[in-house]
Formats: sequence, structure tokens, C-alpha cells
Amino acid sequence: MQSLMMDYPLTLQHAFHRAVHIFPRKEIVTQTDGEPYRYTYGAWGERVAQLAGALKQAGVVEGDRVATFGWNTYRHFELYYAVPCMGAILHTLNIRLFAEQLVYIVNDAQDKVIFVDGDLVPLLEEHADQFPSVQLYVIMGEAAHATGKLQPSVDYETFIGSHPTTYDWPRLNENSAAAMCYTSGTTGNPKGVVYSHRSIYLHSMGVCLADGAAVAERDVILPIVPMFHANAWGFPHAAAFVGAKLVFPGRFMDPMRIARMIERERVTVSAAVPTIWIGILNLLGKEQIDLSSLRAIYCGGSAVPQALIEGLYQKHINIVHAWGMTETSPLASLSKLRSYQEDLPSEEQFRIKARQGTVLPGVDFRVVDMETGQEVPWDNQTFGELQVRGPWIARAYYNDSESAAKFAEGWLRTGDVAVVDEDGTLQLVDRTKDLVKSGGEWISSVELEGLIMGHPKVLEACVVGIPHPKWAERPLACVVPKPEFADQISAEEILDYLRPHVAKWWLPDDVIFIEAIPKTSVGKFDKKVLRKQYEMYSMS
Ligand code: ADP
Repeated sequence: MQSLMMDYPLTLQHAFHRAVHIFPRKEIVTQTDGEPYRYTYGAWGERVAQLAGALKQAGVVEGDRVATFGWNTYRHFELYYAVPCMGAILHTLNIRLFAEQLVYIVNDAQDKVIFVDGDLVPLLEEHADQFPSVQLYVIMGEAAHATGKLQPSVDYETFIGSHPTTYDWPRLNENSAAAMCYTSGTTGNPKGVVYSHRSIYLHSMGVCLADGAAVAERDVILPIVPMFHANAWGFPHAAAFVGAKLVFPGRFMDPMRIARMIERERVTVSAAVPTIWIGILNLLGKEQIDLSSLRAIYCGGSAVPQALIEGLYQKHINIVHAWGMTETSPLASLSKLRSYQEDLPSEEQFRIKARQGTVLPGVDFRVVDMETGQEVPWDNQTFGELQVRGPWIARAYYNDSESAAKFAEGWLRTGDVAVVDEDGTLQLVDRTKDLVKSGGEWISSVELEGLIMGHPKVLEACVVGIPHPKWAERPLACVVPKPEFADQISAEEILDYLRPHVAKWWLPDDVIFIEAIPKTSVGKFDKKVLRKQYEMYSMS
């Protein structure tokens, strides 16, 4: 028997109308060179309608791809809603991609219009002649060093200025595409993930759950994670659903500016990869900054070292470890203490918070042995590949005939290796491609890094497997000391620090000190680059 409930489409139009009609006075703030730019959801809604009108007049129709090449700003947030709500697809381009990848992605998606921040115009100009599908560039803000290669182009304010502040929004199917985002992928070309209205809607509900990120009207949200990195982890979308104040950092991403923004705007929730919080924690040791407004910072993208969790705790900052992928919208699991864990010793609590935690309602998972394909026992020791499924998990890549291997039997094969404890909480051991394979056994590079980053003289540490004639691979630790200890740190000291915590054969064969760890386009440690750099390194 069919139910008698309404078939109400789960689209972003609902969030848009709700934000505009119920929370018109709530603020959206963007950091600029000078004073922050402020307006309200009410004014935002009018500009979103103007933007939709302008896109329509420019010839954008349902299903067209409209790309952005920009920082986290109010204009980007206007695009976040105008494009999908008019039926087109928002394609957020990663501004830090290598040239070939950028060119590949624009052509693969067949972007029709690109919106680009003024200061990023020169970056895009270098490749403009390789974007045959692009019919229009819209430039957001002043393009100081432009040579005029982006043609035809129009200034954003001119583009939207003459259009009405209302728009006749079409009725949309909830399963139609709303946004797309490319993930770097382990091999071959970047892979396009195509989100639907429905998946973003349901993911936003997950973000707002009390056992999710608990985003609510009274929150002030600062998404530091770029809006091109898996939809800024869903925070801008979720904010509109509940009318939370938003603070966008623009291009001002240094720890000091971020900390001052949190202090000034009384930010309650923020989200970024660990490297950002490592920088902020280091700053807090030196500067007097009041971050007491923060109720939680959400951190993921790569493993959050336990030392970072503890360090921030000493400063009364609660960091919540979350796990996800571009393919999972991205929030899939996060770690919060359960009711029956509140009285555990703090050391034990930190260990729990350093896990990737509990999957959100709506996400199913299994961990399977990489050889037999059988599910591993929940003994917190036996590891296997983590696989997930659910309404905001991708089921295929865009335009990709090789998807089959990645999406087996209705599950997304994450490429992450995990153990599960008896509570069903996850701990990631490593990425399959980053595990160090030593003499037929596995060593977790992530665990070694996490431990080394607990050393008081260490700022960042990255461990990679280096080819070894006898053992196939051995771990090499690349360590960035805190600047004040640059001349007072030794390899032996790091190894002594590790010794009580790991089996002897896990100890890195060598520890080298470097100035900085290369980072990926979204700020993660770039192990591919480090491995390449040190593949010929001969260890003692
Ligand atoms: P990319 O593959 O370009 O890094 P994603 O941001 O989609 O793009 O990366 C997802 C991957 O990041 C996951 O598969 C996992 O390996 C890693 N990751 C994300 N969150 C965490 C976390 N909390 N702990 C460990 N690894 C994480």
C-alpha cells in the first residue's frame, strides 16, 4: 500500500525561502581588505534572485554547469543558492589545482559560465584559451592585474544589477543535480561527484542533528574549509536551513586573521583541516586572543592528532574529529563522547575523541578484509577497507566508465583502512595507499605521525614509506620543528619519544627535519610529493 503523505520535493529552494522569509535580519559577514562586508539574509535573498535572473538572461538553462573559482565570500554564497535553485548545477573549481587538472575538469564538466574572484583572474587567464565550453566569465570584485584574456567578461555587480529582486523559481525534481565537485582520485584523472538537491538537503539535516554538528539558529558559523572543498563540508547549506549567522574569511586565511575574526564576530562553530588548527594553537601560545565564544570546531580531511585535541582542550577549545570524503557530501562520521563515557579518565577521553567516531544516522558502513572481502570483527584490532552507503553518498562518478571498481555491490569503497570497536566506532588506520608495507606487515603512517606531533618541540610531522631492499618499505619521518626549537631537536630524541608507544619494528628508520611539509590543494599533507622527494633516500 502506498502512504498518504505528501510527495514534497527535498530541494534547496526550501532552505532558500526559509532563510529569506524567516531569518531576514540574520547577518552574513565577509572579511575584506578593510572593514568586513555585512548584510542580511534578507538582502542576500534579493541578490540571489537578481543573480538567477541574470543567469537566465545570459542563456543558462536547467542542467547547465555554472562554475566558481573563488574564496569563501558572500558572493560565492549567493551562487551556492541561485545556481541550483534556478535548476542549473554549481561546479566549484579548486583554485589551487595544477593547470592540467583545472583544464581537464572545466572541459569534463563542460562549464558554460565561470564566476571568478578578481584577484584570481590572472590564474585563470593562463588557461582561458583551453576552455572552449565557457561562454561567459563573471568577475567578482576588482581584477587588479587582469590582461583582458577572459572574454567575454562582465563585472558581477553589473551582471546582476538591473534584474528584479524576485524570481519565478521553477519546480524542481529533488533528484536533479544541484552541485558538482571533483576529487583528486588516487589514479588517473580527477573524478566528478554530482550532488542532488535531495542529497544536499538530507546531508544538511545530518549536519544540524545534535549528534551531527548541531548547527542551530543561534550559531555563528565560520567555514574556513574552502567552499570548493566538498561544499565547505555542508556548513553554508546547513546555515541557511536554520538561519545561522555566517562569517566568511575571504582570502584571509592566516591564523592571526582567523583568530581575530572568531574573537570579533563571536564565532561559535568553525570547520577546517588540522593544519589550520595546528597554526592557531601555536598562535594561542604567544598571543592573547579570546576564543571563548567557540562551542565546537569541526576538523577532518585528514586524521586529527590526539596532541592537537589535548592542546586545544588546555585552551578550553572543543575540537570534534569528523571523517568524510568528497563522495560522502562529506560528513559521514564524527567523534563525540557518549553518555556512558563522561566519567572516563581524560587520557581515555582524548583517545576516544581522536577516533573518527560514529557514523551519522543515514550512513551505513561495513569494514571488510581486503583479501577475503569478509566483514572484520568489531575487536578494534582487525582492520579492513571501510565501505559506506546512504542517501548522501555518491553511487558513481560523472562521465567515468571505471566507476565500477569503486562502487561495488551498492557500497562506496573508500580506500580508507579502519578498525571498529565494540561500540561500532571507527578508527582509521591509514589510506590504503599510505600504509607502509614492511616485510609483509603494515605500519600505520597516521599513528606514527599522531604520536610524533605530541612531542613538545614538533609543529608538524608526516611519515611516508620509502623503498627498502630487504623490507620492501620502511617508514621515514619528516618533521617540522616549532621555530623556537629548530636548532635544538634531534632524530634520536624523536625516536626515544616513540619507543614506549610502538613496536620496535614500527620505529621510523630515520627522522629528518624539514622547513615545511608540502600540502595538497586542500591543505592536507601531500604524501605523494614527499614520497617522490625521498624515494631515493637511503636509510641507515
Ligand atoms: P582528496 O582525496 O583530494 O584528499 P577528499 O577531501 O575527498 O579528497 O578526501 C577524502 C579522504 O580524506 C578520505 O578518504 C580519508 O582518507 C581522508 N580523511 C578525511 N577525513 C579524515 C579523518 N578525519 N581522518 C583521517 N583521514 C581523513
